[in-house]
Amino acid sequence: MLPQLIFLGAPGSGKGTQAALLVKSLGYIHVSTGDLLRAEILKGTDLGIRVSKLLSAGALVDDLTVLELLKSNCDTVSRSYIFDGFPRNVDQARLLDELLAPSKSSSMAVYFKIDLADLKNRIINRRSCPACGEIYNLMFKLPASENICSKCGHNGLVHRKDDQVSVVEKRLDIFKENIASLVFYYEQKKALFEIDASSSSDSVFESLTNIF
Ligand code: AMP
Repeated sequence: MLPQLIFLGAPGSGKGTQAALLVKSLGYIHVSTGDLLRAEILKGTDLGIRVSKLLSAGALVDDLTVLELLKSNCDTVSRSYIFDGFPRNVDQARLLDELLAPSKSSSMAVYFKIDLADLKNRIINRRSCPACGEIYNLMFKLPASENICSKCGHNGLVHRKDDQVSVVEKRLDIFKENIASLVFYYEQKKALFEIDASSSSDSVFESLTNIF
């Protein structure tokens, strides 16, 4: 079984893009807690209604709600996952360790290191396809035809509400508050790998595959 992968990094640092590449090349399952929460909101479930305002404001949902959602969407005993967006703090890292304890595979954390000043622009220019999840960027990864997904042909790329400037600033602040302790947590477990996430998607992918 492949090691469980825990992606740490600021919003917009490329975790989702690299996860999609690893799914294709190594057969990982990508689980993004942000995507799971947004799906609940779209479906209009009780949970979705409860968390909707928090997501729009860029605030964190409580740890146990996110953990339960993760549990009901993962079979960590027999499958290998890329955890993207979880953990967001040390308490969540401990909860994830407990969840992964029965798994026969090891786990490792990969920190996507990037200058936070560059990130704001990256996120504000991010667009995604609501049909297949493909991620674009108006600065460096445009779709072949304006507003049409090059992967699945869906017409109408979306600008996430929480990718607007003021919310992005709040999300980056929360990231800054938590990242040092999270990195320390995985460093102590000797399970931390750092990659330079500021270069092109291809070279980030190469660094990532070199870790294996
Ligand atoms: P993301 O797509 O990972 O940037 O997450 C979008 C939003 O979902 C975050 O700003 C939070 O409101 C919420 N969220 C995602 N993952 C978590 C988590 N592990 N803990 C708490 N809230 C989360």
